[in-house]
Amino acid sequence: MIAKPNRNLNSALTVLFVLASCLIAGVASAEQSLTKKPFGKTAEGVEVDLYTLTNSRGMQVSITNFGGIIVSLLAPDRNGKLDDVVLGFDKLDSYLVKNPYFGVVVGRYGNRIAKGRFTLDGKQYVLACNSGKHHAHGGVKGFDKVVWRARGYLSESGPSLVLHYQSKDGEEGYPGNLDVSITYLLTDKNELRIHYEAKTDAATPINLTNHSYFNLVGAGNGNILGHRLILNADRFTPVDKSLIPTGELAPVEGTPFDFRKPTAIGARVEEDNEQLSFGGGYDHNFVLAKPKGRMGPAARVYEPTTGRVMEVFTTEPGVQFYTGNFLDGSSVGKGGKAYQHRCGFCLETQHFPDSPNQPAFPSSILRPGQKYDTTTIYRFSTQ
Ligand code: BGC
Repeated sequence: MIAKPNRNLNSALTVLFVLASCLIAGVASAEQSLTKKPFGKTAEGVEVDLYTLTNSRGMQVSITNFGGIIVSLLAPDRNGKLDDVVLGFDKLDSYLVKNPYFGVVVGRYGNRIAKGRFTLDGKQYVLACNSGKHHAHGGVKGFDKVVWRARGYLSESGPSLVLHYQSKDGEEGYPGNLDVSITYLLTDKNELRIHYEAKTDAATPINLTNHSYFNLVGAGNGNILGHRLILNADRFTPVDKSLIPTGELAPVEGTPFDFRKPTAIGARVEEDNEQLSFGGGYDHNFVLAKPKGRMGPAARVYEPTTGRVMEVFTTEPGVQFYTGNFLDGSSVGKGGKAYQHRCGFCLETQHFPDSPNQPAFPSSILRPGQKYDTTTIYRFSTQ
């Protein structure tokens, strides 16, 4: 068994806790660790940190408490070589200037709410509109642009980072004071588990997710069109040309949206298809084929040249599959690499877009006395 130091990392100094080497099932494991270092200051002069979680197999994830951003994620290829498989920037300043949501926590409501309006318990609410005429990803200053209170610790399950944020009643137009906690845990099974919890004092829509862009060859090393994808979805939610769902749950059968068998992301992305043209590629919510509210498979991605595999499991009913259609080389990321069109893909586990205006979609409303509690797991392996 691993000893269980459970300590707080909220000190001004960089702190390193290392668990002693140990034997698990007769196999010697390396050390797991959690470090903290300064990552810069926000425009308001608030200092933020970068936390690095390393498991006993050497997999590593770095997260900043600015926006809860996953800045890097090192995963092994089939020869054990670690590469950074998420898009991002070297410096906080780049995240402050213009970030296409690389790695961030999205909230209070991930994805779009039509015209930034919804009616709840007879009252109409008007949200900040930041995506044409619509509200997207929490508004002008969503959860991706706030500083979270952070606490790191080691446990038997692996290194963890807990982030807290109190979103005030009226923030970006949303009702209710919302208390949010997000726990990132890196397990020895090479899983990054993200646990989202929240409570509110007034009914509010909520839809939290992570917006990492993955490239299993390594961030900045070409496009993602050769990655083979499986999506556990028989249906998806078609959109209008401004990417708001029509309300229909359409079968994927016979369309370029059928990823029930492993298919290269690029195999059909250029097909003449109205939905693909609206998204500029894939930018759609898939309806996961699994019991409501239960943890189950969402996606599996295999990259043939490196052998890397990423599986996604979630308690959420949907996943937004986005192929980096808006990337155009203008974001210069880690190591000076420019991020070109379709050089990363997102799998944003979620409730469906515009749910507050779609009574037939699973409800995204959290009420006082209820607990918002969802989990998404990204599991890395090789094949
Ligand atoms: C949306 C895209 C958007 C991207 C970056 C995705 O979640 O579905 O339409 O361009 O985020 O904002």
